[in-house]
Amino acid sequence: MVVKVAIDLALDRLFTYLVPEELEKKLAVGQLLLVPFNHRHARGFALEIADAPDEGIKYKLKPIEGIADEIPFFSASTLKLVKLIASYTASPLETVLKTALPAAVLKPGAKAKAQLFVDYLPLNSSLSLTKRQQWLYDQIVRLDGGWMSFLCRELSTTPQSIKALAAKGLVEIASRAKRRNPLSARKILPTKLLKLNNEQATALNSINSLNSGGALLLHGVTGSGKTEVYLQAIAAELDAGCGAIVMVPEIALTPQTVQRFASRFGDKIAVLHSALSDGERYDEWHRIRSGEARVVIGPRSAVFAPIKDLGLIIVDEEHETSYKQDETPRYHARDVAVMRANIEGAKAVLGSATPSLESWMNVKSGKYSKAVMTERAGAGTLPNVLIVDMSEGGSPGRIFSSQLMEAIGVRLDRREQVILFLNRRGYSRSVVCSGCGYVANCPNCDLAYTYHKSDNCCRCHICGGWVEVPKKCPECGGLFDFKGIGTQRAEAALKSCFKEARVLRMDADSTRGKNSHDDILGAFRRHEADILIGTQMIAKGLDFPNVTLVGVLNADTSLNMPDFRAAERTYQLLSQVAGRAGRAELPGEAVIQTYNPSQNAIRLAAKGDFSLFAEEELKEREEAYFPPYCHLSVINLRSQAPELVANWADMYAKSLMKVKDLTVGEAVPSVIEKADGWHRWQIVLRSAKVSTMINAWKWLTKVRPSPNGLKITFDVDAFNFL
Ligand code: ADP
Ligand code: ZN
Repeated sequence: MVVKVAIDLALDRLFTYLVPEELEKKLAVGQLLLVPFNHRHARGFALEIADAPDEGIKYKLKPIEGIADEIPFFSASTLKLVKLIASYTASPLETVLKTALPAAVLKPGAKAKAQLFVDYLPLNSSLSLTKRQQWLYDQIVRLDGGWMSFLCRELSTTPQSIKALAAKGLVEIASRAKRRNPLSARKILPTKLLKLNNEQATALNSINSLNSGGALLLHGVTGSGKTEVYLQAIAAELDAGCGAIVMVPEIALTPQTVQRFASRFGDKIAVLHSALSDGERYDEWHRIRSGEARVVIGPRSAVFAPIKDLGLIIVDEEHETSYKQDETPRYHARDVAVMRANIEGAKAVLGSATPSLESWMNVKSGKYSKAVMTERAGAGTLPNVLIVDMSEGGSPGRIFSSQLMEAIGVRLDRREQVILFLNRRGYSRSVVCSGCGYVANCPNCDLAYTYHKSDNCCRCHICGGWVEVPKKCPECGGLFDFKGIGTQRAEAALKSCFKEARVLRMDADSTRGKNSHDDILGAFRRHEADILIGTQMIAKGLDFPNVTLVGVLNADTSLNMPDFRAAERTYQLLSQVAGRAGRAELPGEAVIQTYNPSQNAIRLAAKGDFSLFAEEELKEREEAYFPPYCHLSVINLRSQAPELVANWADMYAKSLMKVKDLTVGEAVPSVIEKADGWHRWQIVLRSAKVSTMINAWKWLTKVRPSPNGLKITFDVDAFNFL
């Protein structure tokens, strides 16, 4: 018998070992093995077991040294998933395996924490006990035993006193693994099932009757009660003996979110997120593998959680870009969730108020089913949305419209709170007229040009086309502005307009410290400030009952991103931002400032008509040949030598242009042209099939391997175009 092993060195190949006869019966795929490797001891995962080695193996086979853990780390189906991801994202198998397993689990020396546990034994009446000992024994019985440390604290006693009882055979003290519980510091209050409204009941029904292996898009407006539907769908799975995974974007993985699940399912919950200690992560992962925990809640990587008999995977806020990993392997956790459900015969539920157009398209083509929830379930109504055309009246380049000023004033008088939102993420590289808001666009791709300072031109980041920066705006003759307004400038302007208002600012600069994020939000929640101004950080998931006005200072920043999903992102952002107002009894209002009031993303977000937006946007995507009508991937190249990267990018692009069924743009300097001394270029590929581009890419890097000093990554189904 031989076994093929993946060794943790990202070599992208498996090594074959002999299996000693005494281990043959114990060996299983997915186990962690000890193997000799280059005269060293190494660890690796058993991926395939066979009777004989493949033909053509040149090296002399050595036997494995042992099995590190007989319980597999990966099930056969997870291994299947891992292989699929490796091939779909063109990543080494070893890197995907590493991604699928928390590092804390494999860390040398990682183990469960043992502590002393005290259990009581039947009272033997022939014993003579002191009064104090009798009392102590009775108390331990009352508490049904417990951890030594807990009993000593609770009963104000010492380990010696309890050990004295053990010596008399009244209690038993043993070492047991004690869970390092990430939830232990929190008081979890139980909640009861809510009676579902009609829309929720219909949605739950659709989920319960979904075929195994199938996927459903739950399109429910903010506050429509998607979470309650998830909770009841999970409860049904648990009743049927199945487990569930709930994926949420990292930023939404707040104590409140976890609380909602923990209060329903108690100890059956395991939490995986980036703030866990290594010990907590180790224990949570083992609780999942052992079957003690049956519901996992976590971000992107939770999709790999080793839940047995998986019945349901929920991807909440499925449109969120944080589900796409920005390093190798560049997988999309939503797509992986659907794949996993398919492999394991589970159901996948993708929830969102603003679904991704990929998922929308999958519903249209019949791949996913769909459930819709159009009304808020609890308190609160969807806010009124007012669009303000910034090109009308006032001075060019102003920050606040008179409508927004007035609305803020009203809130301050009523002692209600305001959130102001300013998206700065755009690096302000779009070429925007400061007078009328005109944006220079690529005529081929209908996509905002990106300004490149080094040669003072505008480039399209899809097709590579370019023009010189126009001297004057062709619409109004105004001048172009590249700077844009930052949160700090807006904060200053706000303070000078409303001298009495208490203002908090939240952006990447003001939240550097460890807790400042929570500190700022906590202060705002306690009404220690009237206005919170910030970047996209404040757009999501926050629930402040006293906020009745949300202002978007410049909706165009995100609209003008050099990203074919800019309109989609803008719609998502506006509907999330508007969703912050009117969460409780007080009705809410949203004011959106823009130079492009007639753009679908803005006009339809204000109306809350996502279906129409999706249909209109799909037409444009089809016309311009963008996803979901094709796959679009990016080759990113970087080097410290500017000519090297420019020449190779150009050469690669030209070679790829010869490949059949592949649409290749000219190589362009990336939006962020230089970072940490590295010059960055990119090439955009489009094709009907992912395999077409991956094969082309593999062929090219084989015949023209990149030289020293040039780093290349291939980002399949890319989301990040900076
Ligand atoms: P979503 O996840 O769709 O944004 P939530 O699940 O957060 O919505 O629900 C919004 C509010 O509505 C919550 O406060 C929740 O407790 C309440 N809610 C949900 N379902 C019901 C129901 N069936 N009856 C009463 N209140 C509900
Ligand atoms: Zn173009």
